[in-house]
Amino acid sequence: MFRRRTTKSARLFARAQQILPGGVDSPVRAFKGVGGTPLFIKSARGSHITDVDGRTYIDYVMSWGPLIHGHAPRGLRRALASVAAAGTSFGAPTELELQLGELVRRLMPSVERVRFVNSGTEATMSAIRVARAATGRERIVKFQGCYHGHADSFLVQAGSGALTLGVPDSPGVAAAVAADTLMATFNDVESVDRLCHTNSGRIAAIIVEPVAGNIGVVPPAAGFLKGLRDIADREGIVLIFDEVISGFRVAPGGMQEISGLRADLTCLGKIIGGGLPVGAYGGRADLMALVAPAGPVYQAGTLSGNPLAMSAGIWSLHGLSGKLYRHLERLGARLAAGLADAARDAGVPLQVNVFGSILTPFFSSQPVHSYDSAILADTRAYARFFHAMLARGVYPPPSQFEAWFLSTAHRDEDVDATIKAARAAMKEAAGPVDGSDVKT
Ligand SMILES: *Cc1c(COP(=O)(O)O)cnc(C)c1O
Repeated sequence: MFRRRTTKSARLFARAQQILPGGVDSPVRAFKGVGGTPLFIKSARGSHITDVDGRTYIDYVMSWGPLIHGHAPRGLRRALASVAAAGTSFGAPTELELQLGELVRRLMPSVERVRFVNSGTEATMSAIRVARAATGRERIVKFQGCYHGHADSFLVQAGSGALTLGVPDSPGVAAAVAADTLMATFNDVESVDRLCHTNSGRIAAIIVEPVAGNIGVVPPAAGFLKGLRDIADREGIVLIFDEVISGFRVAPGGMQEISGLRADLTCLGKIIGGGLPVGAYGGRADLMALVAPAGPVYQAGTLSGNPLAMSAGIWSLHGLSGKLYRHLERLGARLAAGLADAARDAGVPLQVNVFGSILTPFFSSQPVHSYDSAILADTRAYARFFHAMLARGVYPPPSQFEAWFLSTAHRDEDVDATIKAARAAMKEAAGPVDGSDVKT
């Protein structure tokens, strides 16, 4: 296929590399997982995104999850304009924070008290600080492949042999910090039990994405989350649900509503900011009473509770309804089935994991239920598929191990066009026809 040598995106990316490390402000944007040049975006509306070269795509990145109502909905733009006119930041309390806080508590009753921050990373980092303060213990359990932002304690992966003390996953993370992060296996309650046995009385928190979304979508197996709740109760451990993706995405009350379980602390982000930078952590009143100035656990933020961000969150959460989730679920099921059919007809092994409006097509012949099974996916096939989709006006996430996000702005026509594109793209995913291949 003919490609112009220098697109405007390519020129901007070359320039970006002279000022931003790797040309981006967050790694996955650089297309390293699929090769090629990232698209620089000029604008977006509804389910569509337009790059600086004037090409428009059906968007499934959707800013990585926040945009459940689509890009730039009119009501949100209006709300932001009127709040901005009254001032963008005061460093003093506003009623907007109470409105959003009360709304969050109504949707997610385990969040008896909430603290707003500016990102999911801040939320998880602060939640484990509270858990450590509450228990007087230092170790935390996380699951291999679950992502909780980039704070030091979470940038840890199991070494070979697993289930031992953590080793840092990134240079710059102190070994002493990593050593307090214990690694368990997603969908394996036993692996947590074993860690509790060998670290008895030393574990402050278990933190989990109740629907894993950062190795691609991996739903919890039956009994997994309940098993964690039981262990936490038995061992006096604080159970933290990182609902940064699942919160307001899988149901108004997140995975806690679906599972009927209550987390002790919950981390929120993405949808709660409606596309502006917001995170939050909250939960049991007795735990949150430890947070300054109510208690001694220090945590602060110059722009926390920012009026623009709060009003975007309020607007987004007000728009949630049962009808919205039914629409999203139907679209998700339809897209998943369409991708699976396209792969089958092309003879490409594919596993589509779908949970409501998030899904991941794994290029694999093995069911994906954990990190170990996710990494068996053929990332080169995904890369070929990705570029074939881009060429046909569809913008999937530029990595095999990310979720596709639907929004209420996605229509049946969008899904149909995507499936049509996928039927052609699967043939290209099956293997290089012209001997060339994507360099990653
Ligand atoms: C995105 C994400 C985070 C980090 O949020 P940021 O706002 O990017 O810092 C944390 N946990 C989960 C589950 C996420 O998906």
